[in-house]
Amino acid sequence: MQNVAGQKRVVIIGAGLGGLSAAISLASEGFRVELIEKNDKVGGKLNVLSKEGFTFDLGPSILTMPEIFDALFTRAGRKRSDYVTFEAVQPHWRNFFEDGTVVDLSPDAQIQKQEFDKLGQNVYGEFIEFMAYAQKLSDETQAGYFEKGIDGVWELLKFYGLKRSLHFDIFSTMDQGVRRFVQDPKLIDILNYFIKYVGSSPYDAPALMNLLPAIQYQYGLWYVRGGMYALAQALEKLAIELGVTIHVNTEVERIEHDHHIAKSVKLKNGETISADIVVSNMEVIPAMKSLLQSTESEIKKMRRFKPSCSGIVMHLGVDCVYPQLAHHNFFYSKNSRAHFTSVFKKGDLSEDPTIYLVAPCKTDVNQAPSGCEVIKILPHIPCLNPDKPISDEEYYAMRERVLIKLERMGLTDLREHIVTEEYWTPNDIQAKYYSNQGSIYGVEANRLLNLGFKAPQRSDKLSNLYFVGGSVNPGGGMPMVTLSGQLVCDKILQDLKKREN
Ligand SMILES: Cc1cc2nc3c(=O)[nH]c(=O)nc-3n(C[C@H](O)[C@H](O)[C@H](O)COP(=O)(O)OP(=O)(O)OC[C@H]3O[C@@H](n4cnc5c(N)ncnc54)[C@H](O)[C@@H]3O)c2cc1C
Repeated sequence: MQNVAGQKRVVIIGAGLGGLSAAISLASEGFRVELIEKNDKVGGKLNVLSKEGFTFDLGPSILTMPEIFDALFTRAGRKRSDYVTFEAVQPHWRNFFEDGTVVDLSPDAQIQKQEFDKLGQNVYGEFIEFMAYAQKLSDETQAGYFEKGIDGVWELLKFYGLKRSLHFDIFSTMDQGVRRFVQDPKLIDILNYFIKYVGSSPYDAPALMNLLPAIQYQYGLWYVRGGMYALAQALEKLAIELGVTIHVNTEVERIEHDHHIAKSVKLKNGETISADIVVSNMEVIPAMKSLLQSTESEIKKMRRFKPSCSGIVMHLGVDCVYPQLAHHNFFYSKNSRAHFTSVFKKGDLSEDPTIYLVAPCKTDVNQAPSGCEVIKILPHIPCLNPDKPISDEEYYAMRERVLIKLERMGLTDLREHIVTEEYWTPNDIQAKYYSNQGSIYGVEANRLLNLGFKAPQRSDKLSNLYFVGGSVNPGGGMPMVTLSGQLVCDKILQDLKKREN
C-alpha cells in the first residue's frame, strides 16, 4: 500500500469525525495528510463547552457500534482501549408518556420483558417478532452497504442482485414496517423514534431504517469516559502520532482545479496548499456552493439529498438532581404523527414535540458540581428554510413550551433550578459547522427522494475529490461518519491502483 500512497499529499477540509477518520486511515496507509479545520478545535459537532463548573457535550451523546472505532485504531496498528474508554449505559433509554407510563429499553432480555409487560400482555412478543425482522435488515445492510462501501442504488443492485435487494423492504416506510409486527401504540412510538439517529421521519424514511433498533441492541449503547469529547481527543492524539498535520482556526475558501482535477485549496487567510487528493468533510451541498462554486443546475440535481432535521439544543446546569431520569430519556408527544408532520412536512415548530433529554451525570458525576446536574434537551425541529423563516422569538417560545412540558411530566420547577444555560438554534449550528441549512445529521433518509441513500463519496466533478461525513453514504451519526472516513480511504486506494494499472 505504501507504494500507491507514495508521498502523495492529501488535504482534508474539516476535522469532524469524518475528517479525522479519513486522516487517520490515510496516514496509516502512508499518505501525507494535512487536516484543516475552521474552528478552534477538532471534533466538529462532537464539541464541548465548560461553563460555571458544568461540562456540556454540545453535540452527540449516544454512541453505538464501538467496533467501527476499534477498526480505525486497529488500522493504525493501535488498540482503541489504550486511548479512550467506552462505558456501557444501562438502561439504554427511559421512555416517558403523558399518561404517566414509564418504560425502559434494556439490553437485558429479562428486564426488557418486565418493562414491556407494563404496556400489555402481548407487547414483549410483538417486540421479539419485530426484532427478528430488524435483525435481518441489519445483517443484510452490514454485509454490503457498510462493509463494501456501497455508494448508490446501482452499486446496491450489482452487489445484492434484484431479488436480494428486495429484502431491504424498500416499498414501505419505517412506520409501516413497525406496524406489521406491533399493535401497541406506545411501542410503535418508541420504535419509530429510533429514527432520531438520522434526524428523519418514520413516515417518510424507508422501512430499512428499522435496522436501527437491531444495531443498538446488538452493539450496545455507550458513554465515553470523561465526556463524549474524549473521543475527539483520542482521535486527535492518534492522528498526530501518525504524522497528520492539523491546522485549526483555518478556513478553506475554495478548491482550485484544472481539467477536472483538484490542484490545491485556497485558504481564507490567502495561503494556498497544494494537494494530490482532496477530501471534504464539509457537507456536499455547502461545499458545492462555496468551495466549488457549482452552477445552480448542478446544485439542483442534488435536491434529493435534502438536509436532515435540525434542533433547538438546550444545555442546562441545574442546582438539583432529578432521580427519576436515566442517562438517556425520551418524553413523547401526545401525537407523534403531528410532531413529525410539523417538522418534515409543514416546516413548523411542533406544538407538542417529542423531546430527547440527556442527563449524563447519571453515568458521570464529574460533569457537574456536587448536588447539581447537566440536563441537555434536544427537540427536533425543521432545518433552516429561506422560504419559511422562523424567528428567534418563535424558537425561544418553543424553548418555553418544552420546559413546561417537562415540568408537567415530572421535572418539577425545572425552570427555577437553571443556574446556567447554553442555548443553540439552527442558526448557531449552521454558523459553527457550515452544515446544510443547519442540519444535524446530514441528509434526510427519505424513501421517495433517495431510498435512504446519501450523496456519493466520489465527486462527479473532480476525479481526485472525495467526501466524508453525514451528507454522504453511509450517512449521519458518529459511527457512520467514522466509517465513511475509512471507506473513502479504501476508495482512494482502489482508484490509485486502477490508475496505475
Ligand atoms: C446536538 C446534536 C446531537 C447529536 N446527537 C447524536 C447522537 O446522540 N449520536 C450520534 O451518533 N450522532 C449525533 N449527532 C450527529 C453527529 O454529531 C454527526 O453526525 C457527526 O458528528 C457529524 O460528523 P461529520 O464528520 O459528518 O461533520 P461535522 O462534525 O459537522 O464536521 C465538519 C467539520 O468541517 C469543518 N468545516 C466545514 N467547512 C469548512 C471549511 N470550509 N474549512 C475548514 N473547516 C470546515 C466544520 O467546522 C466541522 O468541524 C448529533 C449532532 C448534534 C449537533
